[in-house]
Amino acid sequence: MLQKSTTNNLEAFWMPFTANRQFKQAPRMLVAARDMHYTTDDGRQILDGAAGLWCCNAGHGRPKIVEAIQKQAAELDYAPAFQMGHPKAFEFASKLVAMAPAGMDHVFFTNSGSESVETALKMALAYHRVKGEGSRTRLLGRERGYHGVNFGGISVGGIVGNRKMFGTLLTGVDHIRHTHDPARNTFSRGQPEHGVEFADELERLVTLHDASTIAALIIEPVAGSTGVLVPPKGYLQRIREICDKHGILLIFDEVITGFGRLGAPFAADYFGVTPDIMTTAKGVTNGTVPMGAVFVKGEIYDAFMNGPEHLIEFAHGYTYSGSPLAAAAGLATLETYQEEGLLTRGAELADYWAGALWSLKGLPHVVDLRNCGLIAGIELEPIAGQPGKRGFSAFLKGFEDGILIRTTGDIIALSPPLIIEKHQIDELFGKIAEILKSLD
Ligand code: PMP
Repeated sequence: MLQKSTTNNLEAFWMPFTANRQFKQAPRMLVAARDMHYTTDDGRQILDGAAGLWCCNAGHGRPKIVEAIQKQAAELDYAPAFQMGHPKAFEFASKLVAMAPAGMDHVFFTNSGSESVETALKMALAYHRVKGEGSRTRLLGRERGYHGVNFGGISVGGIVGNRKMFGTLLTGVDHIRHTHDPARNTFSRGQPEHGVEFADELERLVTLHDASTIAALIIEPVAGSTGVLVPPKGYLQRIREICDKHGILLIFDEVITGFGRLGAPFAADYFGVTPDIMTTAKGVTNGTVPMGAVFVKGEIYDAFMNGPEHLIEFAHGYTYSGSPLAAAAGLATLETYQEEGLLTRGAELADYWAGALWSLKGLPHVVDLRNCGLIAGIELEPIAGQPGKRGFSAFLKGFEDGILIRTTGDIIALSPPLIIEKHQIDELFGKIAEILKSLD
């Protein structure tokens, strides 16, 4: 039996998006992981209902990925990312493009979802400039959108709590509203019926600002971090049409929906709507070595490549863009996904998953259930005057009871590894049902 961590060595680490004071009083430590389970420092098994943080789509400790990382570290640990290359980055980019929606022909590597978002926004601005439309400088996002934590991402993002401490943010940004509509769409199974007209908000902003000032709109096809908001039927199609009509680039932030989460390789495939730029991260290396990948359409890349030959086409990049370890991890991850059919496994399990979720209807505190592919959102009624408290209690009880669930405010968001078995789905929802009954 492993020794339970003591609290005396926890002060130095300022933990991200964490209630540090609470955590350091009662730490939750994970020390190992394999397949569907984490192991805690006191030797308990925790069923992973969140794929870590929406990233370990093939589950944990997968031998092929582990070996690829070890081998790569011994062979070529690092190669300069600028003006030099190494074969695995090119091989990985080619394989990613081969599985991407048609027309997304090029990949730019980053190290995280946040960096993918910054990269996509900068690409959109620079694209219009190289095309001679430098007046298109405005970036649009959505309320309740989450696009990471860097300045571009929180500017186009729509989570008040993530924005309000940080000054004026980027100028020239505007937002359309989110699609959540409790009055009409509560307990929609899959895509809600109502709300296609929320896309027309984009026309309103075009009228307000004029299309000639707008570079791009970024949206999450399914908003994850704000509680699983599934787009109404026809909404993304209409957004695509309006963007096309006005020459606005459409960016899908697929940081959580990419790599099989919805039962198709990308949300673009699942919804049948192809963006111009697509941001990914997390599942690209199964959450092992940090990496992000921004996919772009051929015409965007070509616009940059038509400039003078001796110049750097896009003044942007990271020391670790396409690093050997990340590329090796990514190649092994793709092989694992493909060999095990994980990019479409969510489609096979989606009905069973939705059925298990719907078994919670009518239980205490549940005010809405939402699902899409292998994602679920369980919205709980907040305790009066204490928003988020009930959700956090559910998370804590889950950890005690041996399940990892993610909560965002009073919404439980589930996104298990795509290797989950039906009996584990039963266990996850069975335990959640007991937790709901026991919550204040
Ligand atoms: N975009 C979306 C849609 C996300 O869900 C996330 C992370 N949950 C990010 C961007 C940011 O990714 P990272 O934390 O890797 O920077």
